[in-house]
Amino acid sequence: MIDIWQTEYTPAEDALWLRQSTVGSWELCPGRVMQVEHQDYNPLPSEPMSFGTLVHEMLAIELEQGKVPWALGPVEDLWDTLLLNEYSVSLADLASEGVIHESALNAIGAVHLWRQQVEPTLPEGEKLIERKLEAPLGVLPNGREVWLHGTGDLLYKDKAIGFDWKTSGRDWKEGKATYLGQPSSYQYLHLYNHGVWVEEWRYWVYDRGSSTWRLHTTRRDKQQVMAWLRHAYGIACAIDAGVVYYTPTQSPYGKTERGWWCSPKYCSAWDHCPGKYLADEFDEKQSAIINWV
Ligand code: SF4
Repeated sequence: MIDIWQTEYTPAEDALWLRQSTVGSWELCPGRVMQVEHQDYNPLPSEPMSFGTLVHEMLAIELEQGKVPWALGPVEDLWDTLLLNEYSVSLADLASEGVIHESALNAIGAVHLWRQQVEPTLPEGEKLIERKLEAPLGVLPNGREVWLHGTGDLLYKDKAIGFDWKTSGRDWKEGKATYLGQPSSYQYLHLYNHGVWVEEWRYWVYDRGSSTWRLHTTRRDKQQVMAWLRHAYGIACAIDAGVVYYTPTQSPYGKTERGWWCSPKYCSAWDHCPGKYLADEFDEKQSAIINWV
């Protein structure tokens, strides 16, 4: 195993790249991660996911350029460009005009509130905005390297604090930030790339239901980070070995209780997945929902 705390490496050409967010997807259902290469896999994001991407992009522009006079037309153009670049699909193909207008106005409102509630809390210092980070995770039993990568929303070169923006249909439950894997992944990625050990992670969550930003904070120590890295390394081993299993249920003890992620709305592998059938009332024959209307 690579000594991830002390040594610098260059990725090998055949390295396995593990996105930090893939770890969270795997925890929901490993089958979905392994279905990505299937010919019928639908990579298009849901409206809530794409809304979050739009707000992130707008906030990155705000942080780079200062206050922007956001208006409906340019925001919809920005959203369209994001979708075209990432998925080669236009906004108009995914949603009706009414849905697009409403969501874009909601995004503008979120950014205006962010200026009032969040921006004044950001410390001065050298900001690292939407910075792509890479770091070695280990070597597989077959000799193949594993690398971790992710994009941090807002980090500082000279401050032991990190920020992340989230959008949600409702506020997070108290303590949710404590159980996220993401802070551990960025703790390591930031340390490896910039030598900064973050003392506190601040998650600002935009609740679309009540139109408010709420703060959730968390911390990580070395043991917690190491435990997460070992967990991520184990997932990389399973991916490299082609291990496929499905977890459509909330809990291993509640086999009939379907998780929210296992649905035509939220799973990109829904149409062709062989592991979605449960002894419940759900109609698995319905097709995946591929637009936002
Ligand atoms: S449909 Fe359900 S079981 Fe199948 S990959 Fe998606 S989440 Fe997993």
